Amino acid sequence: MLVLLDKKYYHLYNEMAISQIDTRIFTIKYNGFCMSCNLCTDNCCKYGTKVDNISFKNIMKNAKLLESVMKIPQKDWFANEFIADEHYPGSKYVRTNLNEQSCVFFNKKKENCYIHELCFNLQIDYHELKPVVCCLFPLEFSHETLKPAIEFEDDDVRCIGGTLSLYDGVKDEVAYYFGTELVEELNSLSKYDFDDTKIISIYSHKN
Ligand code: SF4
Ligand code: SF4
Repeated sequence: MLVLLDKKYYHLYNEMAISQIDTRIFTIKYNGFCMSCNLCTDNCCKYGTKVDNISFKNIMKNAKLLESVMKIPQKDWFANEFIADEHYPGSKYVRTNLNEQSCVFFNKKKENCYIHELCFNLQIDYHELKPVVCCLFPLEFSHETLKPAIEFEDDDVRCIGGTLSLYDGVKDEVAYYFGTELVEELNSLSKYDFDDTKIISIYSHKN
């Protein structure tokens, strides 16, 4: 079910906005705490990711350091072309390449993300380098809609049926990118008893 929000909530870089939500962000439950969970063997990293242009520039500022720990040449990190998309910070994104059937930035030995680890080691806020798509997982956004990540639509994770809603799992990230006002509206919406077995339709809680 799609719910129109009271207003458009703009991303902190002001280029994209959320104006509606898919209520399955409240009704699908999972384990949460993905950074410390090995249950789905990091399926969310196996397809690679979309790196928004702002994260891309910050990654490249630290490319030599990353290259020295990854041991994979910079030239092999990204697809050849950026895709123009006004919904991404910097108005375009580039896909990461795959390495051994996972995102090139996935560290198979430690089962973590090289970008996140670098930020931790350098004591940089990971939001500066880590793509917004990765920080918001298990949620994603498209066409101004905040919704479950595709892995949950495709039943590609093993923790569906846990105790935490997708929204509750990354509420702090939603607040970071779109502001506490959006979180306040989502908190009040989360108390509704949405029936997501129905066919998706436009529904406004304001009516
Ligand atoms: S999606 Fe679920 S199974 Fe996968 S890492 Fe996150 S909590 Fe664990
Ligand atoms: S950038 Fe990091 S978190 Fe994002 S898909 Fe790649 S390995 Fe996973």
